[in-house]
Amino acid sequence: MNSPLQTEHLWMPFTANRQFKAHPRLLDKAEGMFYQSTDGRQILDGTAGLWCVNAGHNHPKIVAAIQQQAATLDFAPTFQMGHPLAFKAASKLAEMAPAGLNRVFFCNDGSEGVDTALKIALAYHRIRGDAGRYRLIGRERGYHGVGFGGISVGGIAGNRKQFGPALSGVDHLPHPLDISRNAFSKGLPPHGAELAAVLEQRLLALHDPTTVAAVIVEPVQGSTGVIVPPQGYLQTLRAICDKYGILLIFDEVITGFGRLGKPFGADYFGVIPDMIICAKGLTNAAVPMGAVIVTESIYDAFMHAAPTDAIELFHGYTYSAHPLACAAAIATLEVYQEEKLFERAAQSAPYFEAAAHQLRELPNVKDIRNLGMVCGIELMPQSGKTTTRAYDIFEKCFWEKNVLIRTTGDIIALSPPLIINEAQIDQLFAQISEAIREQA
Ligand code: PLP
Repeated sequence: MNSPLQTEHLWMPFTANRQFKAHPRLLDKAEGMFYQSTDGRQILDGTAGLWCVNAGHNHPKIVAAIQQQAATLDFAPTFQMGHPLAFKAASKLAEMAPAGLNRVFFCNDGSEGVDTALKIALAYHRIRGDAGRYRLIGRERGYHGVGFGGISVGGIAGNRKQFGPALSGVDHLPHPLDISRNAFSKGLPPHGAELAAVLEQRLLALHDPTTVAAVIVEPVQGSTGVIVPPQGYLQTLRAICDKYGILLIFDEVITGFGRLGKPFGADYFGVIPDMIICAKGLTNAAVPMGAVIVTESIYDAFMHAAPTDAIELFHGYTYSAHPLACAAAIATLEVYQEEKLFERAAQSAPYFEAAAHQLRELPNVKDIRNLGMVCGIELMPQSGKTTTRAYDIFEKCFWEKNVLIRTTGDIIALSPPLIINEAQIDQLFAQISEAIREQA
């Protein structure tokens, strides 16, 4: 017989530790669209883990690549050294990225990707003799991971308030969620593009545009409850950044690798930033890895600013381009192409959208919003108790309905692996519907 699990030593991230440990939700296997819980149930994965297992769990090609790599080259430094897979992974990622974005800096996750991109932006202006550009602009309800850079440009009070002032010289644009005008929008909401123009107002009225280094946004805000940009919004941000010489950074940690039916959100929106941050789906989450993809001209600026024998950017991680991560990334990017998973996501999106919006008449449903293979279902809070309704539904889904959903505040956020089929989409929404009804 297995001895009971000791839970006291692990300090769990973003978790109510005491509540969790009183009744742990544990997964010990996975395959394709399903997790297996330690009590032996098959749980349909409605969230691709944490928005990351885009090709489905334990994909045999990715597993084999990691196993083989672990037995071949466990680790090699990438500071003044290299290994071939690092270059191969960078080339494959550059091929998949929008035209013009073709230089890749590897890190280990989304948070490091954000810090890397912000540092590149600040250093880029400085090496070009424009060191007065030190400000960074993010958005309310933006999530850019948990590094000090990320929480500074991020706009989630809960992630900031325990940690003091973090970076100075940061401002935030308003988020574009407007349920009063856009409730139950399918795809891009019609109203709110004018909120992007707040950027120009702030630049002129408050900051002086020549002090701003970069604007960072998620093309679709994921972690704070699926906030889809209004029609024309991202185009306006791009135009304002161009007008004032400000770099535009897309944090595509969630929207990268097919979530919207295209390789990147930039492709979906037809808005090309100066840098893309990606992670999660880069390795199908099988080995941690992140990357910042920059334009050739940003890279070249660094190369031209320093002598050939000088280090151009004083930044990097022991595990930048770790061999196991590179092997996983190469295999994953091949799987996306060979199995046409981005096209598959684009084909499934209308069915997913229709299934999601069938929940509209259920009790306590305040809004449903979606794009590609992402959907948010916002619920009315229970009187005076934000988050409890969604949390109850999450627990019910896990223990009784055998589906994994994710909740943030009173919003259910869904982002299944891109391999989900129509029967599984039906199953996911049918189980969530029952849970919402029973909770009411
Ligand atoms: N940026 C965005 C948009 C994210 O959604 C996340 C994680 O969900 C991050 C950054 C941070 O990534 P990580 O948790 O890998 O550090």
